[in-house]
Amino acid sequence: MTHSSAFSSSLSTPFWLEEAPLRAAELAALPKAADLVIVGSGYTGLAAAIEAARGGMSVVVLDRGPIGAGCSTRNGGQVGSSIKPELGKLTALHGADLAKRIRDEGYAALANVQDMITANGIDCDWRKTGRYLAAHSPKQYEGLERLAEARRRAGEPDLVLVPRSEQLHELGSDRYFGGAVSQDTGAVQPAKLHAGLLRVAEELGVTLQDRREVTGIKRDGPGFSVAVGNATIAARQVLIATNGYSGPLSPWLQRRVIPIGSYMLATDPLPPGVAAKLIPNGRMVVDTRRVVIYFRMSPDGQRLIFGGRAALTEADPMRTLPRLYQMMLDVFPHLAGTRVSHAWNGFVAYTFDHLPHTGVQDGVHYAMGYCGSGISLSLFYGMRAGQKILGRAEGATALDGLQFQTRPLYYGTPWFLSASVAWYRFADRFFA
Ligand SMILES: Cc1cc2nc3c(=O)[nH]c(=O)nc-3n(C[C@H](O)[C@H](O)[C@H](O)COP(=O)(O)OP(=O)(O)OC[C@H]3O[C@@H](n4cnc5c(N)ncnc54)[C@H](O)[C@@H]3O)c2cc1C
Repeated sequence: MTHSSAFSSSLSTPFWLEEAPLRAAELAALPKAADLVIVGSGYTGLAAAIEAARGGMSVVVLDRGPIGAGCSTRNGGQVGSSIKPELGKLTALHGADLAKRIRDEGYAALANVQDMITANGIDCDWRKTGRYLAAHSPKQYEGLERLAEARRRAGEPDLVLVPRSEQLHELGSDRYFGGAVSQDTGAVQPAKLHAGLLRVAEELGVTLQDRREVTGIKRDGPGFSVAVGNATIAARQVLIATNGYSGPLSPWLQRRVIPIGSYMLATDPLPPGVAAKLIPNGRMVVDTRRVVIYFRMSPDGQRLIFGGRAALTEADPMRTLPRLYQMMLDVFPHLAGTRVSHAWNGFVAYTFDHLPHTGVQDGVHYAMGYCGSGISLSLFYGMRAGQKILGRAEGATALDGLQFQTRPLYYGTPWFLSASVAWYRFADRFFA
């Protein structure tokens, strides 16, 4: 069945920008020098800039696109603790002490989002909604039972199980086999969060310039020479905060992050009776598939915002929209015919050990690799990077000193991605 009439007037921009558009500033002269130059103007870059500027540094943030054009204005707005590997797995790899510190840092990052929003008076529709983790098979529900028990034993916040017989309170779909609620998680309007951080950074005197691609970073005496086309800025310190948009600027980093596109749509406002029943408790929803699906209502409760990996190879979001739409109908078949107002995508950064990484390479700081859920982590590790750059002890993190792995034959183009996605889709279906 085709649904082309549902897409005929869809815009290929993030829905969130309707309320918080990206700015197109006049191109000003590039500063000649700064204490700190930050490459990338998403949450990582802004959180670091705010911290460093509060500590008295002169800070310049440069972005090759409009300010905030990366993931930070185009994500799903689901805010969780976001450390992907569970405690058992981390313990096997890094020992009990470090594993616990890494997990705890995820929860600290989650708490930090609320603190940052409140302390800076950021209007971004923050709500502690809780998240529903939906099991896509009976076996996955059993997995959630084990996970809830493991989290309880580890003293981590509870996962409250919801058997399939009670699921309608959480989800207006019988596609799933029960699930689990994590109550401490929440939601933001991501572009409004970014706009709020941008305001704070500017009030602190941070210089931000868009359409400024950093093309080289070279040692120069005790500091660095940062190249922007033919011009340069002398910087005492540099932070690379480019996450899924990391290019050849640092081949070392490029070999360690895997850019992966994630695709989203927003429906037109739904009839109130339909909207109210899709996710009755207003939770954020993620499912247990390897090729994960995630969705939520818009902050006003009128639209469904739905996301997932809708393509084997990266493609224009309008081209992948029919598939994403079909994925939405697989969960909510009664939405057939619903019109889509916006379709968009963005690039997240995976890492080979599924952990974020922050540190210093050749004297240059970096923080990235949030593996698809980085709202809390990017704000936290950006803030920590700022503190580290100021030379403060609180900048230390549990990730410091972790090996940032790469793989032979990987140079930044994930040639294995379409085969991996195809395999994971197959496994989700047949080994669920
Ligand atoms: C569709 C989608 C849905 C998501 N949903 C969620 C979610 O629900 N919850 C969650 O927690 N996370 C989610 N994420 C992930 C989250 O958005 C990111 O982890 C987070 O925004 C990363 O922020 P960042 O500042 O590190 O990177 P970004 O915001 O991506 O910023 C990087 C910036 O670096 C710039 N840049 C790159 N190279 C250069 C250069 N050489 N010179 C100058 N500038 C450069 C880019 O232009 C870009 O603006 C989602 C991501 C996507 C794409």
